Amino acid sequence: MRNIFLFFCLLTCSCLNGQISPPDINVYNKIAENQKKSFLNKLKQNRSNAGDNYDLKYHRLEFIIDPDTSFIAGTVTSYFKTTKSNVSHISFDLSQNMIVDSIIFHGGKINFNLTSSDELVIDLATTLILNSFDSISVFYHGNPDSSGFGSFVKSTHNGTPVIWTLSEPYGAKDWWPCKQGLTDKIDSIDIFITSPGIYKAASIGMLIETTIQGSNKIYHWRHRYPVAAYLIGVAVTNYAVYSNYVKEGTDSIQILNYVYPEDSLAASNSTKDILPAFNFYDSLFGMYPFIQERYGHAQFGAGGGMEHQTMTFIDGFSYEIMIHELSHQWFGDKVTCGSWHDIWLNEGFASYITGLTYERFSSYYWMEWKKSRIQAVTTQPDGAVYVVDTTSVSRIFDTRLSYHKASLLLHMLRWTVGDSCFFAGLRNYINDTALSYKFSTTANFINHIQTSCGKNLTFFFDDWLYNEGYPSYNILCTKEIGNNVKVKISQTQSHPSVSFFEMPVPVKFKNNIKDTIVVFNNVSSGQEFTVNIGFDADSVFYDPERWILSANDTIKLVNNIIEKQNTEIILTPNPAVDFVELTVNQNQHFDKFELYDISGRKIISYSEFPCCQSKYKIDLKNIPEGFYFCRLFINDNSLIKKIEIIR
Ligand SMILES: [Zn+2]
Repeated sequence: MRNIFLFFCLLTCSCLNGQISPPDINVYNKIAENQKKSFLNKLKQNRSNAGDNYDLKYHRLEFIIDPDTSFIAGTVTSYFKTTKSNVSHISFDLSQNMIVDSIIFHGGKINFNLTSSDELVIDLATTLILNSFDSISVFYHGNPDSSGFGSFVKSTHNGTPVIWTLSEPYGAKDWWPCKQGLTDKIDSIDIFITSPGIYKAASIGMLIETTIQGSNKIYHWRHRYPVAAYLIGVAVTNYAVYSNYVKEGTDSIQILNYVYPEDSLAASNSTKDILPAFNFYDSLFGMYPFIQERYGHAQFGAGGGMEHQTMTFIDGFSYEIMIHELSHQWFGDKVTCGSWHDIWLNEGFASYITGLTYERFSSYYWMEWKKSRIQAVTTQPDGAVYVVDTTSVSRIFDTRLSYHKASLLLHMLRWTVGDSCFFAGLRNYINDTALSYKFSTTANFINHIQTSCGKNLTFFFDDWLYNEGYPSYNILCTKEIGNNVKVKISQTQSHPSVSFFEMPVPVKFKNNIKDTIVVFNNVSSGQEFTVNIGFDADSVFYDPERWILSANDTIKLVNNIIEKQNTEIILTPNPAVDFVELTVNQNQHFDKFELYDISGRKIISYSEFPCCQSKYKIDLKNIPEGFYFCRLFINDNSLIKKIEIIR
């Protein structure tokens, strides 16, 4: 019966697993490096100047893109609602590198000024009242800035030209007039991409139709969910297209893949591997956020991947990158970090969810994932998860902090509060209607997890989010009588910003037959605990499941019980009735007598021994019959003798 069950379980698990590839910590360097370079290119420019006097409702984006030429011509029609009274000007973010041909408002051309700070300021030639719905069209063209890993890149794959975009964080304005700050998602968009007919154009949302227009083809993509400007991408080349499908309830979701033809076999062998993860994330965080549409991948030339909404852009098809970007659809796309201070809400979560995916589908890789992250973070003694200085590019996209340490922060938060309130808190956070399809901040997340767990977690976030470093533990376990173990936990910190990391500290006790893990609620350095582990351990291990971000830890098990049967001390009679007499060598100093029952409870402690006698009598009249341990302290040593009391 047991074997059959085991066989069934293995069979089931192996089906679910598909082809899981091992964790690859280096992919994070690629992802972060990519974003860092993109960011660096844009740093010289202001981040967002687009006005806060309107709410974007809809964009109709019409682009002409030919992968043979680094060039874009576009018409961007924006529908908006004024959020202030007396609106006579509105503005978009647009690189000064682009050429605006004309702007049409209420059927006529109007004046504009594209400033040196990349702000397209438009004079409406009228004044709109509060809550006015209106629309405006910007006609423009140019060769977008695309140095390095720029936001609009022309390159080749296997000799074929490709153009792709990567706008995070400030690059959308390089190729279209937009509002790229993290305050106003576009409620809905249509994207029309006109390209030579030999190419296919990939973008976000649903492909509504393709229309032939002479030698060109127009790809019409439609997305009906709110989206941040940086999560919109387009890519054009000679894509091969195929789909995977994942079952979702009684229906299925399409995973649409636009891949380079030369990589289509490898891609089709890989993309199906994420299907179990898809259902796993549904079960943890609620249904895939863009369920009315689909998910997919479009291959591009930047290293790593970019979580464009419903259409991840990806270079190869690494399992870890694929699941990282998929999890961003919940954490990053559905709920988007509300400032670059809060980047960990995107990257820390996506990184931890890759870990959870290994935990669910491959315990071996899960342990490897944890060890590699701890190792990576503890290579340096400092660094906080929270980004204070958003002008420091290398800090925002610091792989060690915004990805790895942030993911371990979540891991330790889960350990500290327990699975049920941790996952409930995450579910409540991601499904909060005030945050879903909008933006969130660190405070929003902390509120959710504290509410879910019913406790104040300031101490935790102070230590692990805002302050720096990690602890090192020194743990001394001392065997005492009756399977008691005294555990002394000492801690040092790698950085002075944290005086002490309050953590539940797990210790595993083991012998050939039994093992157990005891969790000590460690609130100060040098704190001592005594625990009865129920068996005689011969070895101890600190944090065997790797819950805590720490390094240079030591743990030791010592024996305080000296078993000397042929000692100089003689107990008579044994069994005893009313008393026991201790016979001691006269040149020894006898300090203390203790009597313990077999559960390790201390019954008698006596230390008033006059000096230098050879015999001492201990009264046992009030002790119930049974077996006991006598602990005898002599010459700074203690030894144990067993005694039976009879009536
Ligand atoms: Zn990411």
